[in-house]
Amino acid sequence: MYESINPMHNLWSDRVWLKLQLTNGCYWHKCAFCDVALDYIGNFCCCDASQAADVVEQLIKKTGKRDFHFTDEAIPPVLARELSKEFISRGLKLTWWGNIRFDKGFSDEVCKLMAQSGCVAISAGLECAQERLLKLMNKGITLESARETCRALKSAGIMVHAYLMYDFPTETEEETLEALTNVRDMFADGLLDSAFWHRFALTVHSPIAANPSAFGITPDPNPRPDKLFALNEISYLEQDKPYIHRLGEALRIATHNYMAGNGFEYPSKFWINIADT
Ligand code: SF4
Repeated sequence: MYESINPMHNLWSDRVWLKLQLTNGCYWHKCAFCDVALDYIGNFCCCDASQAADVVEQLIKKTGKRDFHFTDEAIPPVLARELSKEFISRGLKLTWWGNIRFDKGFSDEVCKLMAQSGCVAISAGLECAQERLLKLMNKGITLESARETCRALKSAGIMVHAYLMYDFPTETEEETLEALTNVRDMFADGLLDSAFWHRFALTVHSPIAANPSAFGITPDPNPRPDKLFALNEISYLEQDKPYIHRLGEALRIATHNYMAGNGFEYPSKFWINIADT
C-alpha cells in the first residue's frame, strides 16, 4: 500500500498511527445506506476537546510518538475547531488525520486551524457524486457544498480523500457517467487528491433495508450464499440494472488516471471503452 499511487492509501501505511476515537456514532446519522440503527452510528455523543487533548498529551508522553489517526465516523466541525485550538495553545507538535463529512461547517477558519494544529489529511464520503442520488440517499450535502468544503480544506493545505459509491439503487448508467465527470472535474480543479469507488451494499440496519420499495428494490427471497456472511448484507433484486462490472472497472481505471494527473481531457464514456478492451 505504501507504494500505491493513491496518496491517501500511501499515507495510511507510511508509519505507525496512534488510534483514538473522539466521538461515538455520527452526528448526522441519516444516510440511507448506512447502518444508522446500530449504536456505533446512531447513538452520537462527543468528548470534550480539552479532555481529548489531555489523552493525546498522555499518549505522546507514553509512546514518544506524535502521529494520530482519529477513527471517528465523522469528526464534527465544532469539535475539529475546539480540538485544534487545544493542540495549538498547548504547543503540541503532532500530525493527525481523520474522517469527516463534507460539511459546510468546515469553513476557511476551521480548516486553517486544523492545518495549523497538525491535520495533514481528511477522508469523507462524496458517495454517488450526483445530485439526484445524493438527495435520495439523504447525504445532507450537494455537489456544490462539497466542492466548497474541499476548497477550504485544500486552501489550508490538507489532503482530501473521497469515498465514492456506485451501483446505488435506481442509479442509471448515465448517472454513473455523470458522477465520474463530476469527480474528474474535482480532480482537475485541484479539489481532490485521492478517491476510491466502493460498490453499494444493502445492509440490515440501514434505512434502505427498512423501506426497500422506496428505493426500487426487493429483498431476494433466494439470497446468494456469499451474501449471508455475518447476516449483515442483504441480497436484493432490482429491475433494469446497468451492466455494473463494466462500469465499476471504468470508474476504477479513470480514477487511477486522475490521481496520477492524467486523462482529464477524455469524456467519461472513453473509460467504458477502455474497460471493454
Ligand atoms: S455514511 Fe457517514 S455521514 Fe452518513 S450516517 Fe453513516 S457515518 Fe454518518
